[in-house]
Amino acid sequence: MSQNLEKPVLNALSKDYDKERKLNALERIYLPEIFKGMWYTFKQMFQPKATMMYPEERWDPPAIFRGRPVLVKDNGRERCVACGLCARACPPLAISMQANEDAQDEKERFPDFFEINMLRCIYCGLCEEVCPEEAIVMSKDYDITFKTREDAVYGKDRLLIPKEDLTERLDYLRENKNKQFGKFWDFQEENNIHSVRNRDKRWETSLSLVEMLEAKREQEKTAN
Ligand code: SF4
Ligand code: SF4
Repeated sequence: MSQNLEKPVLNALSKDYDKERKLNALERIYLPEIFKGMWYTFKQMFQPKATMMYPEERWDPPAIFRGRPVLVKDNGRERCVACGLCARACPPLAISMQANEDAQDEKERFPDFFEINMLRCIYCGLCEEVCPEEAIVMSKDYDITFKTREDAVYGKDRLLIPKEDLTERLDYLRENKNKQFGKFWDFQEENNIHSVRNRDKRWETSLSLVEMLEAKREQEKTAN
């Protein structure tokens, strides 16, 4: 049906609007409505308070809360093995890192640097979801301020938090995150300090992964 633009649809401002309720004399002075509003406000003064006097009063969020992501420090060192999965999963590309290796160390891999740009982070928790080492978790920290853009890039110095301070979240993850994958994927703490060499007996070598690749390349060269 075509619209008649000459005669627009009836509205409250139109003189033709005949369904409008007529106000009585009391309603026309608005005072009863004003007192009704004031009475409602007065009643609310005796209701339990939902607000807090922040920052003097602070909210302690439950374990399900997703505050800023932090790195787990286990016995004085990071759990992270710099696999890069969190950086790959992070939607706004907030995470960057550089992996390094130490052949003498049982853990072998660690991040040379690990940074999260908190101006980019959207607190989605995907980094925590994908981490195979339970090395990055969402903390309870929601009190985040910076003065400059550079200040918003958190390095290992500000990211690393002892696991003892994250027990609530770690317990929550154990109970809820692993459920969907079953026992097989349960995070075993002792797995974090492992060596690829120790796990794969077939290699039977004391070389690091990088050294093995180099040795393989050398072998190929001599074979040709
Ligand atoms: S919480 Fe989300 S946005 Fe923030 S670092 Fe982790 S994956 Fe990236
Ligand atoms: S925090 Fe976890 S997912 Fe990210 S690089 Fe470290 S071990 Fe891998």
